[in-house]
Amino acid sequence: MKIITDPRRWKETMYEVRESGASIGFVPTMGALHQGHLSLIRMAKEQSGAVAVSIFVNPTQFNDPKDLRAYPSTLETDQEALRSLGVEYLFLPSYEALYPDGYTYSIEEHEISRRFCGASRPGHFTGVLTVVMKLLLLTGADRAYFGEKDWQQYRLIEGMCEAFFLDTKIIPAPLIREASGLALSSRNMLLSEEDRALAPSFHAILSSGKPVEQIISDLEQAGFIVDYVQQWEDRLLGAVMLSHVRLIDNVRIRT
Ligand code: AMP
Repeated sequence: MKIITDPRRWKETMYEVRESGASIGFVPTMGALHQGHLSLIRMAKEQSGAVAVSIFVNPTQFNDPKDLRAYPSTLETDQEALRSLGVEYLFLPSYEALYPDGYTYSIEEHEISRRFCGASRPGHFTGVLTVVMKLLLLTGADRAYFGEKDWQQYRLIEGMCEAFFLDTKIIPAPLIREASGLALSSRNMLLSEEDRALAPSFHAILSSGKPVEQIISDLEQAGFIVDYVQQWEDRLLGAVMLSHVRLIDNVRIRT
């Protein structure tokens, strides 16, 4: 696996891969990899000639500095997992390298990004869209994979690619859950033992089919601090806090 930290070097390398005739499947991540991430990488492997992964904990998408500081990092085991899946290219840029402008330029969406997670995390999606735009331009992938766990993020990225005529095809990947129903997330490892035991009922309650008001009240009863539960098209999206850990999930509903 070739590990590259310099953005220009990454761009040249990706150009060479495309020139050699291989298609590129790209999976951007923030590391602390779990089976959810690995499922995206497996999809990329099946559909593309070469797989490129990035690990970058993007500070501009964290509206809360404490959340950024607490974000888990397991770089060594991440690299082992990527090697064992046969990933050919890993991009590990620094903040300074990826933001030579010091984040004076950004990509902003003015409607969907303000709703749901965006309402309680101001600036979050501007940070996400900006870093994803940089990564997509640097990689020039044929396909880039985004998990349906972050449904709002996936939709915003898809919309950005359409709005800016990017060539990369955005592929949604199914949400991977543990047997308990809890959506896999790097943040799950930050939960206390007690909160970890409670966490699976988030999905159980969200998918109960009850009216939204009842779901919110059931979540509160169970011990969650509810940020929002809202329907968007045929999905029910939700975000809750357990102590200082934010969990998000979404389920398809019959409309
Ligand atoms: P992150 O490292 O949290 O930024 O996630 C990187 C990518 O993995 C994003 O496209 C996420 O939507 C996706 N992802 C994270 N957790 C899951 C999951 N449980 N199932 C499917 N995709 C996921």
